Amino acid sequence: MTKLAVFPGSFDPFTVGHESIVQRALPMFDKIIVMIGFNANKQPFFPVEQRIRWIEQVFATEPRVEVAAYDGLTVDFCRQYGAQYILRGLRTASDFEYERAIAQMNKMLFPDLETVFLLTMPEHTPINSTIVRDIIMHGGDAGIFLPAALNKAEFKLNSNQ
Ligand code: ADP
Repeated sequence: MTKLAVFPGSFDPFTVGHESIVQRALPMFDKIIVMIGFNANKQPFFPVEQRIRWIEQVFATEPRVEVAAYDGLTVDFCRQYGAQYILRGLRTASDFEYERAIAQMNKMLFPDLETVFLLTMPEHTPINSTIVRDIIMHGGDAGIFLPAALNKAEFKLNSNQ
């Protein structure tokens, strides 16, 4: 059976921290779907089409990574695609508490689904999309926090905020 993992998140934008989680998880799974979810509490900064395109560019040479956007529950997406695993990254103790609740509730909703956590690389621990967005919004250079494959010029201030 194909080992399929879903890596859900807002990815607003996709950072080197996210990229590293996918790269490190690839040897564990046959395929990973990076799923851009719609968080009711978060108004996205970058349009979903742009976020999809960036993630596709990052994994352009890796056919085992796919990108999708989904406006529903992650567990329903997993059921639809026959995924047996959810992949998440852990940076800090507060990530852990948040992730624990989601993973345990997902387990109650869909008992056959396992959530697999990878601890962040130490150098990626402070990197989060909210601060990257803040840097971009204030005209700063967030290049070192973004995947090498991306054109950094696209992250300059734009009109969608
Ligand atoms: P969400 O809005 O669901 O928290 P994010 O896009 O912020 O989505 O994050 C998606 C996943 O990536 C989460 O599991 C998060 O913990 C993980 N993640 C975010 N930033 C990093 C990082 N710098 N290193 C490792 N994992 C990360």
